[in-house]
Amino acid sequence: MSTIFSKIINREIPADIVYESENVLAFKDIRPQAPVHILIIPKTEIPKVTDIKGKEHAELLGEMFDAANKIASDLGIAEDGFRLVFNCGNNGGQEVYHLHMHLLGGRKMNWPPG
Ligand code: AMP
Repeated sequence: MSTIFSKIINREIPADIVYESENVLAFKDIRPQAPVHILIIPKTEIPKVTDIKGKEHAELLGEMFDAANKIASDLGIAEDGFRLVFNCGNNGGQEVYHLHMHLLGGRKMNWPPG
């Protein structure tokens, strides 16, 4: 089922896009939890982590990590470090069922997470 992120991919609703390639899109989170909070998504609809098939999606996931590294570098947070998060399902706190990687940085992260 399509989510709000498909609408962002299709430019039906606006987003502050920071990176785009053939297969991946990244944009600023609308409710940032850190000075830098970017969502990196595949353009194809994969609802959640448990729908990932290693062999089928390896290249796509690699592209998402490449995008995260590029964005972190472009935004000047690569050296100090950052956090990448995939929330999965209800207990993971997932709200939008279109796979997304959170890139969080610009401040020291807490551990354990809430
Ligand atoms: P999650 O809880 O892991 O599913 O994360 C979903 C994230 O999407 C949240 O951090 C929301 O703030 C963010 N979000 C929801 N709608 C939008 C939107 N239209 N543009 C940007 N970020 C959004």
